Amino acid sequence: MADTVIMIGAGPAGVVAVETLREHDRQSRVVMLSAEPFPPYSPPAMVDHFITGSNSHFWRPANWSEQFQVDYRPGVQVTSVRPALHQVCLADGGILAYDHLVIAAGSRLYAPLPGVDLPGVYNFKSLSAAQASVDKVKRGEARTALIVGAGFIGMEIALLLRELGVQVTQVEMLDQVMPAMLDPFTASFALQIMRQRGVEVRLNTKAKRFVGEKNIAIGVELETGEVLRADLLIAATGVRPNIDFLEGSGIACRWGISVDNYLRTSAPDVYAAGDVVETPDRLTGEVYVHAILPNAIEQGRVVGLNLGKRGLGCPTPYEGAERMNSLKHLGLRILAAGLKHGEEVLRARVNGGWRTLYVQDDRLVGFQLVGGLQAAGALRTLLNRQEKLGRLKDHLLEANFGQGALVWSALSL
Ligand SMILES: Cc1cc2nc3c(=O)[nH]c(=O)nc-3n(C[C@H](O)[C@H](O)[C@H](O)COP(=O)(O)OP(=O)(O)OC[C@H]3O[C@@H](n4cnc5c(N)ncnc54)[C@H](O)[C@@H]3O)c2cc1C
Repeated sequence: MADTVIMIGAGPAGVVAVETLREHDRQSRVVMLSAEPFPPYSPPAMVDHFITGSNSHFWRPANWSEQFQVDYRPGVQVTSVRPALHQVCLADGGILAYDHLVIAAGSRLYAPLPGVDLPGVYNFKSLSAAQASVDKVKRGEARTALIVGAGFIGMEIALLLRELGVQVTQVEMLDQVMPAMLDPFTASFALQIMRQRGVEVRLNTKAKRFVGEKNIAIGVELETGEVLRADLLIAATGVRPNIDFLEGSGIACRWGISVDNYLRTSAPDVYAAGDVVETPDRLTGEVYVHAILPNAIEQGRVVGLNLGKRGLGCPTPYEGAERMNSLKHLGLRILAAGLKHGEEVLRARVNGGWRTLYVQDDRLVGFQLVGGLQAAGALRTLLNRQEKLGRLKDHLLEANFGQGALVWSALSL
């Protein structure tokens, strides 16, 4: 009888795992479970959906499950996993048996602030959650919004709400926006535009708790004691892997699920991919959860390959996660990758924008682009290759570096 593969999660990691598996295996029965009641969607496209009304967040065709022979079950939540019995247990009391399991359950809001569970505190970590806050605006119940956190998700939400005509205040405890990804120089451009767009960004402003009246959130108390009130309160303070349902399963987890080089968990026949896993950074080797789309997609691909080629004895290793992010709705293109420090900093104004490069031990370890992104592809290749730069270093800030044939001749210098 054909094997049964169960996928927990229909985010980018799960979808790409299925598609890759099907390149090698049309026989297995694939059952995909998603706690949410939607077709598979891509979270980074949600903001576009709410701004333009386009449905591009449903990034796969309507007949996707038939095309890839997937028994897709939306609105089905897994409550526990029993690796010894090769079973998953569902919220409705059902039990499903698997031969192979993929955990791609993604992440949810992480907001270590008292009061965050009060009704009236919203987040953007899922389509249902995002829809609830936008609906409140569209019903005319939210003229003002307060967003806690100025990471990339918080920034995107702020821009969306401005588009919807909401007066937005954003508080960030550190002294710059997008502190995890951008260097202070690049962040200053993002901040300037946020303010030009009418977002009141307050840096060095730490939220202490959400405060409620009659058990409904009405504002945020800052460490200074000041209380900021708004019609719509949004927490955008970070993410944490969805691993609660693995408690008692024996599957090794720290902050996220621990996996080996082939994205296998500690349980036999159980893989994991996406925001739910901890993997090594390909640059530094540091192991942590790298919750961005390109990593979820690549990890999904590796899991799909390894499942598809099972039994052949040649598993594909995972090369490690990238650090990379871009801001799409700013009007000014900003992209950052790798580290934001190095023993040498090369910076120049290029084609009306700015290019900042971080070099360590004659290797490119990070770059930040403001304005033109033409060099991004070539710089990313250099970052991932980690070869000595040598004479190439003198060309990295040139206006046409990264374009056409010049890149490849430069890369082979
Ligand atoms: C607003 C927003 C903007 C973003 N923008 C960017 C960006 O510009 N660039 C970028 O690189 N990244 C961005 N990201 C991050 C990116 O979306 C994630 O890294 C990516 O979606 C992770 O994919 P995933 O498949 O691991 O998890 P998810 O996309 O989170 O999918 C998880 C799936 O698991 C299901 N699930 C969870 N628990 C259970 C359970 N117990 N039982 C059954 N199903 C379950 C969920 O229903 C869902 O289907 C953004 C995220 C958000 C929220």
